[in-house]
Amino acid sequence: MSKKCNVCGKLSCEEKKIDYLYSYKGNYLLVQDTPVEICQECGMIYYEASVLKKIENNFFEIQKHKKDPDNYIEIPRLEYTG
Ligand SMILES: [Zn+2]
Repeated sequence: MSKKCNVCGKLSCEEKKIDYLYSYKGNYLLVQDTPVEICQECGMIYYEASVLKKIENNFFEIQKHKKDPDNYIEIPRLEYTG
């Protein structure tokens, strides 16, 4: 059952799982299989507040070394030079 998109107004929002990159002050946490709703029409991504809260909690627990991540990845970095 598709839901209505607040941006384009079409009934095109579908539940999907994506890789979500949370960032805060230069620190990152990649959360795989994050449940979201994506509009198939305009590409708008809707995150549920409870999902974001959970990701945020995990991020800070990992930052404070109260929790270990599943693993670490390296991310290539590049400055945009036009
Ligand atoms: Zn839309």
